Amino acid sequence: MTGLIDTHSHLQAESLASDLPDLIAAARARGVQDIVICAGSREDWARCADLAHAFGLSYMLGIHPLAAPDAGEGDASCLAERAQAAMDDPHFIGIGEIGIDCLVPVELDKQERIFAEQLRIARRLGLPLSVHVRKSASRLIKYLRRLPVSGGVIHAFNGSDAERAQFLAMGFRLGFGGAASYEGSLRIRRHLSEIPSDRWVIETDAPDMPSSARRDAGSLRTEPADLADTLALAARLRGISEEEAARQSRENAFAAFPRLALRHVC
Ligand SMILES: [Zn+2]
Repeated sequence: MTGLIDTHSHLQAESLASDLPDLIAAARARGVQDIVICAGSREDWARCADLAHAFGLSYMLGIHPLAAPDAGEGDASCLAERAQAAMDDPHFIGIGEIGIDCLVPVELDKQERIFAEQLRIARRLGLPLSVHVRKSASRLIKYLRRLPVSGGVIHAFNGSDAERAQFLAMGFRLGFGGAASYEGSLRIRRHLSEIPSDRWVIETDAPDMPSSARRDAGSLRTEPADLADTLALAARLRGISEEEAARQSRENAFAAFPRLALRHVC
């Protein structure tokens, strides 16, 4: 397989640092062409950009909802300046990882305020998002209706059919990763099998979201090469060839992230 796009990862994580060049080489050997590195907080923005440049990958800048409680008052305006400056950088492709987390409902008011500020930055720069949703779809949808953006990906989607329909109606693609590999993940698997062919993408969330194979092997670290396993699973669940699944997921990643497409489409 060739041309696979990992639409969501955290390659800046410390648990990947010691063997990152080997991990990226292994991913490339399994057909991974590009990996989107999603930022977590102001502290890792520079590292996300540096890694994308060093390995020929893509990155986003943002403040993760679980980092929002610790964010400083000036962090959102700092993000606005940094993202504006990065518009000249072809490796910079959007605002992420941002969202609201109601599974860990710490300082929800602050999470929501920082999410809204980041929506305004994305709107001003015409950038897509990588969105974190955990038991927070209705709140996210409320903000996205008020402050519409140019789409992006709802990462690790595991919501209801009604939420799926609302995100799709707003122009988003939905991301699927290791969580879909569990036999018991009935709802995620059904979404992945039913979703329109132009609306699904694949992701690893490396080093998080381990697949059932990783867990069986006693490892909780997701690696970038695992994307190829998710592609194979998606092909099986959707009843299409792996070649067709690779083509669809790649086209969908390009549609979700136009600046990423610019670097790959001649
Ligand atoms: Zn993530």
